[in-house]
Amino acid sequence: MRYHISTSLILQEFPKRDCECPLCEIRGIVEKNVAEQYLNEAVMVTNVRYEVNAKGFCPGHFDTLFAGQSKLGLALQCVTRMNVLKEELATPKSVRSAKTSAKKIDRMQKTCVICDAVEDHMRRYYKTVAELYFAEEDFRELLPLTKGFCLTDYAGLILNADYAKGRAKEYLKALSELEKENFERVQGDLQWFCDRHDFRNANKDLGAAKDALPRARVKIYGKKNGK
Ligand SMILES: [Zn+2]
Ligand SMILES: [Zn+2]
Repeated sequence: MRYHISTSLILQEFPKRDCECPLCEIRGIVEKNVAEQYLNEAVMVTNVRYEVNAKGFCPGHFDTLFAGQSKLGLALQCVTRMNVLKEELATPKSVRSAKTSAKKIDRMQKTCVICDAVEDHMRRYYKTVAELYFAEEDFRELLPLTKGFCLTDYAGLILNADYAKGRAKEYLKALSELEKENFERVQGDLQWFCDRHDFRNANKDLGAAKDALPRARVKIYGKKNGK
């Protein structure tokens, strides 16, 4: 196929029926691959070091790297990132400049090279899903058989619907119908989870409601990956 490499992960993850969001599964795989890059020799390449110094890692990805194989790799990157952070520790010249500094320090703890790289990849996946929908009849048939997406990834898909070109309106309709149907399915399971706590229902089977809360977590917020 003439699309970029991300097509293969889409065709691997979308047909899995037991999944509330195939794009979260893809994000998990991408995140793992990206994180690994910051633990191998590539971290010593100048432009990678420059980016890590400028953005650093978010707390979740620091923990991901810490759990990895190279404590030294992480430590080396941390030392130079801390030089950048340290520049903000100069005594503020005024109360006003202290407020500016405080906001900057707060922002600096949230920037992350891994988060940014993963989101770049995800934007490409949103576009590729739309391109596949435009070009491949098999994919148009596959899409409604999935269980929809988390809200973040649903938003990413509709934001990039123009990549489905002449089929964009049809694509948006297919996406929204799929999402609504599956959102209501999870909501229905949650409702049964609640109703089952009524003593009159005590003997009835929980069925699909037994894991309704973790599935609602994925549907609303997405799957918790490395972060
Ligand atoms: Zn998702
Ligand atoms: Zn991060």
